[in-house]
Amino acid sequence: MRDYRELSLWFDQLDEPLTARPALAGDRKVDVAIVGAGFTGLWTAYYLQALDPDVSIALVESEIAGFGASGRNGGWCSALFPVSAATLATEVGDDAATAQYAAMRATVEEVGRVAAAEGIDADVAPGGTVVLARSQPQLARARHEVAESDRFGLGSALLDADAARGRLAATHVLGGTYTPHCAAVQPAKLVRGLARTVEQRGATIYEGTPAVAIEPRAVRTASGTLGARHVVRATEGYTARLRGQRRAYAPVYSLIVATEPLPDAVWDEIGLRERETFSDFRHLIVYGQRTADGRMVFGGRGAPYHYASRIDTAYDRVPAVFAALQETLVELFPALRDARITHRWGGPLGIARDWHASVGLDPATGLAWAGGYVGDGLSTTNLAGRTLADLIAGRDTELTRLPWVGHRSRRWEPEPLRWLGANAGLRAMTWADAAERRHGRPSRMASLVTAMMGR
Ligand SMILES: Cc1cc2nc3c(=O)[nH]c(=O)nc-3n(C[C@H](O)[C@H](O)[C@H](O)COP(=O)(O)OP(=O)(O)OC[C@H]3O[C@@H](n4cnc5c(N)ncnc54)[C@H](O)[C@@H]3O)c2cc1C
Repeated sequence: MRDYRELSLWFDQLDEPLTARPALAGDRKVDVAIVGAGFTGLWTAYYLQALDPDVSIALVESEIAGFGASGRNGGWCSALFPVSAATLATEVGDDAATAQYAAMRATVEEVGRVAAAEGIDADVAPGGTVVLARSQPQLARARHEVAESDRFGLGSALLDADAARGRLAATHVLGGTYTPHCAAVQPAKLVRGLARTVEQRGATIYEGTPAVAIEPRAVRTASGTLGARHVVRATEGYTARLRGQRRAYAPVYSLIVATEPLPDAVWDEIGLRERETFSDFRHLIVYGQRTADGRMVFGGRGAPYHYASRIDTAYDRVPAVFAALQETLVELFPALRDARITHRWGGPLGIARDWHASVGLDPATGLAWAGGYVGDGLSTTNLAGRTLADLIAGRDTELTRLPWVGHRSRRWEPEPLRWLGANAGLRAMTWADAAERRHGRPSRMASLVTAMMGR
C-alpha cells in the first residue's frame, strides 16, 4: 500500500492516520456527484451544503482526499489569477477584470474565515507576499506590475531596496513589490480538515475509487455507478487521463524542497517575520514560505512536461530539479548553505491552452467543471467551489457573473506538438533568466515565448 506520508512535508506533518475511506461498492443515486476530492471538489461540496443542508453529495477519489496538488502545494493562498488583469481586460473589459480580481482578494479572506469557523488549524498566516527584484530587468517588471495593480486596484506596492530587504534579506536585492493579499497555509491540514467537515455534514467520500467515465447524470467506476442530477469534474492536473479530455489541460509539474526547522538566528538574518510568502521576478517561477515550525519551503517549475500528458508518481521527484532548487535557495540565502533538506516532492497542476482558469456548468447535461488554475489554485478553488454551488443551485449571483464562468479554452495541440511546445517554453524561460543575469537586459526570448504560449 502507498505511504501517503511521503507525498509531501505537509502530509508528513499530519497528526492523523492516513488510511483510505471505504470505496464505492455498488450503485447509488445522489443529487450531486463529484469526481476528485481535492480543494475544488471539497469546496464545492462545502458550499452546496451551506446552501442546502439536505443536499446529498458523493465524491469519488482515486486515492485519498488531498492526494493531488491540494495536499502538496507551496501553501500560498493568494489573490493571484492565471490571466493577468490587463490581459483579462482586453478580453472582457476593465470592469469585469476588476471584478474577477476583487473576488480573488475576497477569497483569500474567505479561506481564512472558513478555516477558523470550522476549527481547521491550517497554520494560516495572513502575512502577504513579497516579490523581489534582483536585476534591472526584474525591477522593470516590478514597476510594470505595480502600474497594473494601480490601474485595477489590486493592492501591490513598490518597495525600494531597503524596504524589500527589510522583509526578506536575499542577495542582490534592488527592490520589489509587496501585497497584503496572501496567506501562508499548511495545505494538507486545510484539505484534510475540509474533507472531515463535509463528511460530518453528510457527504460521502469514496476513496480508492477512480472514475472511469464521467457522463451526463452518471459517474462510472469499476465498483459501481453514481447516478446524479449534477456531475462535477474536479480533477484539475489529472483531467488528461479522462476519456475525451486528453487535450483539455496540460499537466505541468512543480517541485518543492523543504529544510529542517531553522534556528531563530537564521530567521533573524533572512526575515519573513510575518511569514510573508515570497518569490522574485525571474521568468521560471520560484515560490517559498516560512512554515509555522520554522522551515523554509521552496519550490519552482522546471520539471519536464511528459509526452502525451502522462502523469506518474515517478515524475514527482526529479533529482536534477531538486538540486537546481537547492542551489537557487542557497544563492538567494547563503545562510542556508548547511541547512539540511528533509523533504522533496512535487506534483502536477493543470494548464489550459490559453492559461485561463475556468468554471462552468452545462445545464443541458448537468456536467460541471472547474480547473486550469496553473499554480494559483489554493484560493481559486474556493472561488470555484462557491461559484459551482451557485450554478448548481440555479442562482444568479455576483459570482456566477464573473468573467471566468463558462469560459471555454481551446484545446492543446496534438502530440508531438504539445510536447515540443511545452518543453521548448520551459527551456526558453530558463535561458531567458540566465541571459538576463549575464547581460542585465530584458530577454526578448521570454516575450516571444510568452506570446507563443498564449499567456
Ligand atoms: C508542487 C505544487 C505547488 C503549488 N503551489 C501552489 C501555491 O503555492 N498556491 C496556489 O494557489 N496553488 C499552488 N499549486 C496549485 C494548486 O495546488 C492546485 O491548483 C489546486 O490544489 C487544485 O486543486 P484541485 O482540487 O482542482 O486538484 P487536485 O488537488 O489535483 O485534486 C484532484 C483530485 O482528483 C483525483 N482524481 C483524478 N482523477 C480521478 C478520477 N478519474 N477519479 C477519481 N478521482 C480522480 C486526484 O487523485 C486528486 O486527489 C501548486 C501545485 C503544485 C503541484
